[in-house]
Amino acid sequence: MKQHFLKWLGAVLVAIFTLPVASLAAGYTETRYPIVLVHGLFGFDNIGPVDYWYGIPDALRADGAKVYVAQVSAANSTEVRGEQLLSYVKQVLAATGAQKVNLIGHSHGGPTARYVASVRPDLVASVTSVGGPNKGAALADIIRGVAPAGSFTENVLASVVNGFSAMIGLLSGDTTKPQASEAALDSLTTAGMARFNQAHPEGVPTTACGEGAYQVNGVYYFSWSGAQPYTNVLDPMDANLTMTALAYGFAKNDGLVGSCSSHLGRVIRDDYGMNHMDEVNQTIGLVNIFETNPKTVYRQHANRLRGLGL
Ligand code: CA
Repeated sequence: MKQHFLKWLGAVLVAIFTLPVASLAAGYTETRYPIVLVHGLFGFDNIGPVDYWYGIPDALRADGAKVYVAQVSAANSTEVRGEQLLSYVKQVLAATGAQKVNLIGHSHGGPTARYVASVRPDLVASVTSVGGPNKGAALADIIRGVAPAGSFTENVLASVVNGFSAMIGLLSGDTTKPQASEAALDSLTTAGMARFNQAHPEGVPTTACGEGAYQVNGVYYFSWSGAQPYTNVLDPMDANLTMTALAYGFAKNDGLVGSCSSHLGRVIRDDYGMNHMDEVNQTIGLVNIFETNPKTVYRQHANRLRGLGL
């Protein structure tokens, strides 16, 4: 009898542990509204908008999310990119029959998504800014030569500019010239973002490093970012991010954007052990093995949106 029971128990355990994982998590990422991913500044000429989000769309789709990947100008002003994104959102709504979308933007994609939610809040369920320079990037101030005089030594300035140029070269496949346009960089300076925030203040913290409003005009606002420029010895990008991180002195940053500037709406976390590229699971999945995987963070967020009925 006892032997019979043990056989039965064994069979049950085998059945449980061989169930496909996906079926256990069915619906985990199934948001009510489609998710639209909005890329950042860089050209990624040799990568493309889908692979920019390395493995993230599939990780979200695996348990029910409808995911769309926007392509806007790699390097242009926030407003120009925002208008392009608005057109794309209307296409997604037409194609799916959905009434709204959830926008998730990385880097300059954060302010780009904010633009759409500001001008057409009726079309947007939520905006999530990942590593977004919502109050500007000190790095852009340096590259554009508008950093406060005397705030950095010549050596630091040179390292930051060299790190940035080398990174653009790696990302665009062209090591001879920086691809980022002046319009894009001007949008991302501290002064440029201050102007943008005056026109589009939704979700932006009113204090230097606090949270913003969780909900404005019916749109939910969220943000997260990393705060560790060097995370993986195998990733060629990390050496450059270590140089560009010098633009922030001792303030927490992800190599390109300061943690406080990344804040928008509800701050999920501003100190993941990730750098700016890890936040989109780059380079090709070379991230911090001691931190929650970026794909998991996106999946958790989809589940969070789902829990809110978004
Ligand atoms: Ca990385």
